[in-house]
Amino acid sequence: MLFSKMFIPTMKEDPKEAEVISHRLMLRAGFIRRLAPGIYTWLPLGLKSVQKVERIIREEMNKKGAQEILMPFVQPKELWVESRRWDKYGKELLRFTDRNKRELCIGPTHEEVVTDLVRKEVRSYKDLPLTLYQIQTKFRDEIRPRFGVMRAREFSMKDAYSFDVDEKGAEKSYMDMYDAYGKIFDRCGFKFMVVEADTGQIGGSFSHEFMVLADTGEDIIISCESCGYAANLERAEVGFASKPVQRKKGEFNKVETPGQTKVGEVASFLGVSPDKLLKTIIYNTDKGVIGVLIKGDREINETKLKNLLCLDYLELADEGTIERVTGSPPGFSGPIGLSIPLYADRDVELMEDFVVGGNEKDIHITGVNKDDFNVSGFYDLKIARNGDKCPNCSGTLSSTRGIEVGHIFKLGLKYSEAMHAVFLDSDGKERFMVMGCYGIGVTRIVAAAIEQGHDENGMILPLAISPFEVDVLPVNSSHRESMEFGEQLYKELLEKGVDAIFDDRDERPGVKFKDCDLIGIPIRVTIGEKNLKEGYIEIKLRHEKTSQRMKKGEAIERVIECVKRTTHQ
Ligand code: ATP
Ligand code: MG
Repeated sequence: MLFSKMFIPTMKEDPKEAEVISHRLMLRAGFIRRLAPGIYTWLPLGLKSVQKVERIIREEMNKKGAQEILMPFVQPKELWVESRRWDKYGKELLRFTDRNKRELCIGPTHEEVVTDLVRKEVRSYKDLPLTLYQIQTKFRDEIRPRFGVMRAREFSMKDAYSFDVDEKGAEKSYMDMYDAYGKIFDRCGFKFMVVEADTGQIGGSFSHEFMVLADTGEDIIISCESCGYAANLERAEVGFASKPVQRKKGEFNKVETPGQTKVGEVASFLGVSPDKLLKTIIYNTDKGVIGVLIKGDREINETKLKNLLCLDYLELADEGTIERVTGSPPGFSGPIGLSIPLYADRDVELMEDFVVGGNEKDIHITGVNKDDFNVSGFYDLKIARNGDKCPNCSGTLSSTRGIEVGHIFKLGLKYSEAMHAVFLDSDGKERFMVMGCYGIGVTRIVAAAIEQGHDENGMILPLAISPFEVDVLPVNSSHRESMEFGEQLYKELLEKGVDAIFDDRDERPGVKFKDCDLIGIPIRVTIGEKNLKEGYIEIKLRHEKTSQRMKKGEAIERVIECVKRTTHQ
């Protein structure tokens, strides 16, 4: 491609709306343009990058025997009613009505459509296992679209779905995808971590997220260096000291705490540290009102709570409910004398002589111990954090930030039961198919790569997904020999299968160098007038500070070597 002919609207100034570096650089380098909140146009450079990502994904999917299809992105309501997700999915599902008053939605994901396809077409165990995938535009009406294409409303996803005759087969399909994902993210040049993710009420440990490590990531990863345990924040378990304190009843005292409703306020009013307080949080659930007890300085992990009690619905209780069950306004709830079921975090077992709410306005109780009230049990209910004990070994957990680029999930019978996707086994008996689903954020990958690779001058993209591999850059465009040599080199590179761009623009050298760095082209071949006269050119790798001078006759060979080496880095 000739630079002069390519549509690359770069920007000199930092766009104000961009909060993270990848978003800023994608706008500045002319990769994307915003049309509406969370909705973007991909310009030629950005699209080239996306297509390279897609190619890697297709190759690795196909190697595992997954077959590509393309499903519609408009989906009928009926399928979503069948899977019982029409009401559950909430506002992220964009719904609309057609001229015949039929209700439809734009697909945020495709379990319903693919299950409908397979249940209609697959009859026998002989047709299984089957893994189908597609690369397609999804729409999710995200509550907070942000960071450009990182959390967009319209974005491209690779979604795959596996269908097996039994659990064992489903596990094999799952592991195949696990393996393929590792290869894909390696090829994209990522530093990433595979973490356990929540499986909700489907159970088992069969959900993993692939997280690109980046400080700006929206996700928090909890991991243990000693044993390799890694999970996302929702899922992360916490180890606990195994020696609970002896049974002990307190000689507690009621104290007045007028207007002090928050942990911090009560703690400083009473002159104790927040971890000497026990919070009593009241929830409304589909199984009635419950209370959860947790140390004052910790937060409840609602996913753990939902999983523990098999809840479909969990919401903090409103003021009215709190008054009804505790007899006091919010801020003074405590476990003593409460008649609702109480679930305590394991930390509570180790607490002594602590402060709780008095279930009376402006009253707290001090000197309390765990045997002063009844609980239904002690469980791991808190959000893990840096410094907590590892659940698997004696190590310590630490937290890092990541960007979720892939998610694999063993679905089991969830959809096949709801939508009656069955096959006939070798005895002619009807059985449900065992399913798995596997997603990759195709467009998010490009943003994640930039978050991981950049400097003050622009992107530092991995060669495999950079829009171009090599920029052939004559410094002086009015010097005929430089231009001729450059063009010749560029053409030969193309013939050899190298994705090169030729900066034939009549621009100042500074502009050309700046653009090359901004776009992050991994290899730059600089053709300078003086060097060329002496029979030399220069090669500079984007991620290195200095360039190398080499004989012009060796240029092709050396560039190809560089491409190969950089690909395998
Ligand atoms: P997140 O927690 O980031 O919202 P998710 O759990 O909703 O992700 P999945 O339903 O598993 O995501 O979708 C598969 C992949 O699609 C994700 O791993 C992510 O890379 C990508 N993805 C999800 N939502 C978006 C979005 N709004 N914009 C861009 N990519 C997305
Ligand atoms: Mg989401």
